[in-house]
Amino acid sequence: MRKQDFSPTFLDFGPVGFYIARHFGFCYGVENAIEISYKALEENPDKKVYLLSQMIHNQEVNNDLESRGIQFIMDTDGKQFIPWDAISKDDVVIVPAFGTTLEIEHLLLDRGIEVQKYNTTCPFVEKVWNRAEKLGKDDYTIIIHGKPKHEETRATFSHSAHSGASIIIRDIEEARSLGEYIKGNKPGTMFFEEFAWRFSEGFDPNRDLQRVGVVNQTTMLASETQAIAEYFRSLMMEKYGEGNIKKHFADTRDTLCYATNDNQNSTFELLETDADLAIVVGGYNSSNTSHIVELCERKFPTFFINSENEIKSSTEIHHFDYPNKVKRTSTNFLPQKEQVKIVLTSGASCPDTLVDRVLQKVISYFPGSRSVEEVIETLTFKPPS
Ligand code: SF4
Repeated sequence: MRKQDFSPTFLDFGPVGFYIARHFGFCYGVENAIEISYKALEENPDKKVYLLSQMIHNQEVNNDLESRGIQFIMDTDGKQFIPWDAISKDDVVIVPAFGTTLEIEHLLLDRGIEVQKYNTTCPFVEKVWNRAEKLGKDDYTIIIHGKPKHEETRATFSHSAHSGASIIIRDIEEARSLGEYIKGNKPGTMFFEEFAWRFSEGFDPNRDLQRVGVVNQTTMLASETQAIAEYFRSLMMEKYGEGNIKKHFADTRDTLCYATNDNQNSTFELLETDADLAIVVGGYNSSNTSHIVELCERKFPTFFINSENEIKSSTEIHHFDYPNKVKRTSTNFLPQKEQVKIVLTSGASCPDTLVDRVLQKVISYFPGSRSVEEVIETLTFKPPS
């Protein structure tokens, strides 16, 4: 099989050029979810149409859906806007691409809502649930690498807890901390405080950390999930011996979706370029975008923006500091040189038109630039330098 090509395209406008990632933007799951949402609106002009939470992590798309009459039941952290009592069997409820918890699904079914009719749960998320179910059935404890508050991780946890003992860990540091309980270096009593709300009912750290398997939120950083799985594998090998590893560690591949993989691989190729800076476009609560930002930051000054409006002038840009969850302002972000080279990419929930608008805005600061039509006409694929 031919190796997939993740090398970027260089768009040469003259005084400015853009390295465009081979894969970026809307994924299958998001496109499908948006399509079904518009369909739900169209098919139910006289009904109230609700979305369990923000469809995708993209404000523009959410705003558009809201302007057409869709109401959000919860925010992305699970805070309720509309009480369940206000929702009746005559209403339409759309399940977002992240899926939902079994508890919410049952609650809606009890209210007579046809949950499956507009269920946009991404098949790649369902794949994680199936993997977790299999691990649970084989009597492994399911370790979920994900952001504990993220809708997808909450939904995965709910499904996995139904199949077996489950726990959510945020990152490799938390994996190591959990490892201390496996090694017996920390008392089980501390576990309940440290991992509060992130383990399944009846979890017993002495009993439930002897056989483990790892799944992850579909949009995590691939390298970190791999490091976590490798950490538990080595730990179990150390504790129980190489010959017994299969009894204590389920050797499964990560459960990242194809879009995350492609976007992250494309981002690694971007890191090989000679760009001066990176602009990453996406929603500020988007997990997959935050990982692309994290990768770009390894090499370039990186600006995470949610629309072209964050670029205030040729010298000022407002951007999001994801780890600290604050907006920052940077000045003189465009260097003075003969040709400024910019990495431009976006997350899985960002429409291509938004990336296009960012590109146009940046070009407007470079008089004498070639037109988009001209550049497209003479487009050549340039390998990373
Ligand atoms: S990012 Fe992946 S799992 Fe999430 S909706 Fe897109 S394709 Fe599905």
